[in-house]
Amino acid sequence: MSLFSDFQPLAAIATTPNVAEKLQPLCQTSGATLWVPPVLGELENVQPYEGSLKEHVASLWHQHHAFVFGLASGAVVRLIAPLLGDKSRDPAVVVVDEKGQFTISLCGGHQGGADQLAQLIAQQIGATPVLTGASTGWGLPGVDRLGVPFGWCRGEGDWTAVSAAVARGEPVEVIQEAGSTLWQAHLPEGHPLRIQNRRAGRSPSIAEFRVQNEARIWISHAKREFSPESDFSSVQWHPRVLWIGIGCERGTSQQLMEAAIGEICQRYHLAEEAIAGMATVDCKADEVGIMELCCRRNLPLKTFPAEVLRLVDVPTPSTVVNQEMGTPSVAESAALCAADWVRDDAGTRGQGHGWRSNSPPRDVRSGDAERGKAEEDKLATYNLQLLVPKQIFKREGQSGAVTIAIAQSQQEYTGRTGQLFLVGTGPGELDQMTPAARTAVTEADAVIGYSRYLDLIISLRRPGQIVEAFPITQERQRARRAIDLAQWGLYVAVVSSGDSGIYGMAGLVFEELQAQGWDGQTPQVQVFAGITAMQAAAARVGAPLMHDFCAISLSDLLTPWEIIEKRLEAAAQADFITAIYNPRSRTRTEQIVTAQKLFLKHRHPNTPVTIVRSVYREDEQLTLTTLENMLQVPIDMLATVIIGNSSTRNYANWMLTPRGYLGFDAEASSETQD
Ligand code: SAH
Repeated sequence: MSLFSDFQPLAAIATTPNVAEKLQPLCQTSGATLWVPPVLGELENVQPYEGSLKEHVASLWHQHHAFVFGLASGAVVRLIAPLLGDKSRDPAVVVVDEKGQFTISLCGGHQGGADQLAQLIAQQIGATPVLTGASTGWGLPGVDRLGVPFGWCRGEGDWTAVSAAVARGEPVEVIQEAGSTLWQAHLPEGHPLRIQNRRAGRSPSIAEFRVQNEARIWISHAKREFSPESDFSSVQWHPRVLWIGIGCERGTSQQLMEAAIGEICQRYHLAEEAIAGMATVDCKADEVGIMELCCRRNLPLKTFPAEVLRLVDVPTPSTVVNQEMGTPSVAESAALCAADWVRDDAGTRGQGHGWRSNSPPRDVRSGDAERGKAEEDKLATYNLQLLVPKQIFKREGQSGAVTIAIAQSQQEYTGRTGQLFLVGTGPGELDQMTPAARTAVTEADAVIGYSRYLDLIISLRRPGQIVEAFPITQERQRARRAIDLAQWGLYVAVVSSGDSGIYGMAGLVFEELQAQGWDGQTPQVQVFAGITAMQAAAARVGAPLMHDFCAISLSDLLTPWEIIEKRLEAAAQADFITAIYNPRSRTRTEQIVTAQKLFLKHRHPNTPVTIVRSVYREDEQLTLTTLENMLQVPIDMLATVIIGNSSTRNYANWMLTPRGYLGFDAEASSETQD
C-alpha cells in the first residue's frame, strides 16, 4: 500500500539522466511509470516514449490523476497549456528541478492535490516544496480541499471568488450545519474565517440573510441556490449525512427510484451530494433497482432484518406493511437505523459495510424507572433526525412504487478506508527520521502523539491537518483515538519517538485493534520504522552494539519487576551487550542500582558503559564510564545506558565492541558478515 495511492495513476517524465535518476526511486515507491525519451531507454525501470513529448503527454493527460515532470517549469507550462481544462478536473502537476532541490506545485494545487503531492515528493527526495497557493500563506487548507478528509462533496458556488477572498484575508463567513467540526479546532491564529455552527432542526433553514462579509462557505446537507446577482460569493460543501430509507414494490425500476430521490430532495431543499447511502430491509437486498442505483451512484447499501426494524418507533407505521414484511415500517426505520440513531436497544447492528459510527448520540439504555421518559426522548430524537418522513412515489404510466424516508446521521459517512500510520520519528532531529516516515506524517489527515514529539516534527505538517497532542501518560487514549478516527475513514499518523515498535505506540495500537475484533485489513495499518534510542546512542559513541545485544526496559509499570530482574541476570550472565531503556524516573530510582549489582556479578568492574542522554537533541550529553562508576553519572528517563560485553573497550573516547571474541586480528581470516 503506497503513500501515493491517492494520486494513482501517476506518470513521471524525465528528459535528462540526472532527473531520471532522481525520480527512479520515487517511481518505484509510488508505482508511477517513468517515461523517458528513447535516448535514455538504456536506464533501468524506465519506459521510453515514441514520437514527440507533446503528443505523448496529451495521450496520457486524461488517463492520469497526477504528473511529475523533471523538466524546466517553462517547458512544462508549454506542454500542458493546451490540455488544461477545469481546475475541478485537471490532474495534479508537480515539477522537480534538475538537481532535485525543489518540488513545485504547478497546477491542480488544491482540487488536484498537487500541493500535497509536492510536499510528499519533497519528503521522499529531501527537497523543498514550493507552494504558491495563497491560502497556503495563511496556513489554511484550500477552500476547495477543506472537506476532502471527511468525504464531503463539493456543491455549487463560485469557488474561485471565495478562495480569492480567503487569500486576500477578507473575513469569510462559514456556516456549518452538518458534518464534523474537527477541522475548526486546528486553524492557524488570525485566520480570516468567521465560523458559526448551527445544528439545523427538522428541515434546514434555507433563508439567506445580509452580512458584512464578502464571501460565505456553507457546510450543510441543504442545497442552496445562489443568485448570480448576489453581491457576495458563496460556495457549498455537503457532508454525507443523509441516509435514504427505501422500500418498494418488487421490480420497481431504478429510474423511478432516481426520480423519487431527486424530487423529494428538491422538495425538502436537500443536496443529493449529501447522500451517504441507502438502507432497506434484508429481504430487499437483492432488489435489482436498488442494487443498480447504489452501483451507479457508488453508494453503500445497509440492510436490516425485519425483527430489528420493527423495534424502531416511527412517525408513520403501516399495518399493511407489517402484514407483508413483518415490520410496520421499512423506509423510516431503515433510514434511522442506517443513520445510527438506533442501536443497542435494537440488539443487532445493520450490515454496515465496514463503517462504524463512534459516538452514539444518546444512551438509550436507561433503567426501568426512567423507561417512559427515555422512550419519549428517543421518539423525539428519531423524529428530529428523520428529515423526511415516509413519502410514497408513483408515476402515471410506470409500474412499481417506491417509498422513501430520509434520516440525518450525526457523523458523516466518509466513504474512505481509513489508514493508520505507526510512525517512528527517530531520536530527535528531523534528519534522523526516514523519508518514508516523514512522508507518512505529511500525508496524514490527523497526527496524534505526545506533545513533546509533535513539536519536534512541526515542520512536516501541512495546512488543514488535525493535530492532537496527548500527555505522556495517556498512551491508551492516544491509541483509541487514532483507531476511532481511522475507522471513520481518516488517514491517521500515530507518532512515537525512536521506533514505534520498540517500547512505542505500535504495540498498543495493535493490542487495541485486536481487542476491537480488527480483521487485519480495515483500517489499513502501515508501520514506519525509526532509529531507536539505542542505535542512535551507539552511533554517537562508536560501535558498542557490534556483537549480540539486547534491550531491557526497567519500567515496571506494565511488567512485573521479577521478570525484569530475571532478564537482567540472564543478559549479564550470557555476556550480551545490554541497552537499558527507561533507566530511572523521579520515583523509580532503585532499579538501576540493582541492575548494576547484577551485572557486577558477571562482568568486570571496568566494563565500558556509556550513558547517552537526549541523543540528537539540543541538550545531548554523552558520557563514557565504567560499570563500577556508572551510578556517579546523572541518569534519568531521557537517558539510555549501554553496558558493554566482556570484550568491549574504550579507545580515544570511542566505545567499541569487536565483532567476535577472537580479537581484531581474527577479522582477516573470519567469515565476514559485512
Ligand atoms: N520508542 C522509543 C523508546 C521509548 S521508551 C525508541 O525506540 O527509542 C523511552 C526511553 O527511551 C527513555 O527512557 C530512554 O531510555 C530512551 N530514549 C528515548 N529517546 C532518547 C534519546 N533521544 N536519548 C536517549 N535515550 C532516549
